Amino acid sequence: MSNSIPDLPAAYRVGIDLLRDKVGEKSAYEWDDHKAAGLPMIVACTHCTMTMAGASALIDVDGYIWCADCAETRGA
Ligand SMILES: [Zn+2]
Repeated sequence: MSNSIPDLPAAYRVGIDLLRDKVGEKSAYEWDDHKAAGLPMIVACTHCTMTMAGASALIDVDGYIWCADCAETRGA
């Protein structure tokens, strides 16, 4: 597997999946797409405050944003 995102509990959703659900499959998601999905283009991790693209962020069931490292450590 060349995927850089580790296996995660089902409780997390990846931002890109949220975008696909809301605005459909696209090769690139623009500002309006993020707005429609309710996901900022740049987000900060709830725990370490690292900023990242909304599309690669992990969102838990409560709507909090996590980076891959913190999500993994947290183990929810
Ligand atoms: Zn983090």
